[in-house]
Amino acid sequence: MGRSLMPLNPGWIELIYGCVKSGKSRALIDKINSIKNAIDEEKFEKEFLVVKHPLDDKETQGKISSFDGKNIDAIECETAKDLVEHVTKHTKFIFLSGVHLFDRDIVPLLKALVDINVIIVTTGINLTAKGEPYNYMPQIMTITDVYDIRAGECFTSGCGENAYRSIKVNDHFEPRCMKCYYKTEKTPDLVVVTGPMFSQKTLELIAKTKEKERKLELNPVKNEDGFMNKDISAIFKWSEDKRYDLEKIVSHDGNSINAIPIESNSQVINYLKINKQVGFVGFDEIQFFKDPYPLIKELLERGYPIYITCLKEDFRGEGFGDVPKILTLANIIISKEAYCTRCQKQPATKTQRFIIKNGIKTPANYNDPVILVGGKESYTSVCRSCHWVPEKSENKYDNILKLKQIN
Ligand SMILES: [Zn+2]
Ligand SMILES: [Zn+2]
Repeated sequence: MGRSLMPLNPGWIELIYGCVKSGKSRALIDKINSIKNAIDEEKFEKEFLVVKHPLDDKETQGKISSFDGKNIDAIECETAKDLVEHVTKHTKFIFLSGVHLFDRDIVPLLKALVDINVIIVTTGINLTAKGEPYNYMPQIMTITDVYDIRAGECFTSGCGENAYRSIKVNDHFEPRCMKCYYKTEKTPDLVVVTGPMFSQKTLELIAKTKEKERKLELNPVKNEDGFMNKDISAIFKWSEDKRYDLEKIVSHDGNSINAIPIESNSQVINYLKINKQVGFVGFDEIQFFKDPYPLIKELLERGYPIYITCLKEDFRGEGFGDVPKILTLANIIISKEAYCTRCQKQPATKTQRFIIKNGIKTPANYNDPVILVGGKESYTSVCRSCHWVPEKSENKYDNILKLKQIN
């Protein structure tokens, strides 16, 4: 997948990610080679930066290398500060291997690069062998535009299923499928649908739930009382989200499914303990929940297939609650775009909040409360360039890059 490299598009971040030995470097090398072959050498040298973190495959210094033996020359950069040194006013594309190994500054640097329309294609490992988010991957995955997950092949003998987790075996790392990793009977699975408001995320959840229910009805899950066809899916929503209907999830076009309003993680766990026939769990707008990251981890450990809709960023463009960490757990991320209501040209990836000041619709201030349940009267979807948050603090890399543009 990935977007076509059209020069007129604004900048974006494409993340090739997954567990160890999932072919991430190979995908990056192939991408670089296909461009290298299509343009002249001088242009490539001027506009393209190929960079690797030195700890990303220590054996092949000065090269990005794949585990199947391909490699390509790369500049080694250990920190975001090292990387920005190599950026010039001509830089249009950056290929970056091992983004998960960088320091905290990589996040504002990537943001600032995209803002001056640089296209970034990068590789990273989302989770450590302990199953925790890898360094700043939650923040990086929040600002990612194009998600390209690569599956490895589960090393458990006789398995060979698609692997999305890494484990440490003696002194090396191996890929594992979800079932072998969590040692569950059923195959746990996490799909996250994200995008700004009005990008039809809820519609995806409703369609998926209806599809799952049809499948589970044909193939019922057995519980202690025999076969049960009722309540085979459980869809949870935040109890304060009272738009439309408290016990329903309704999409903007009027489709709906039943939902269970909850206030805490323990309510979800208790519901599933009582309703053992549930074979599919959904969450609408998980950014509103209190502490959802440990809950999602626990449900994966219990083997549930999970489907989540969420805003990954709040109206200020900051990671929304636990969502950035939840993104690292997903084996599928569906990124929805809306239509920019301001320039009406670019796809919208941001949510803009308004307040009414002296009778005029004005962008809400950075310091306003993060949660405000509302609809079209308070929010609209906008593209990156049209997103406006008064009093948001400056990104130091914006200025560093601006100086490079002049000189
Ligand atoms: Zn396996
Ligand atoms: Zn716009």
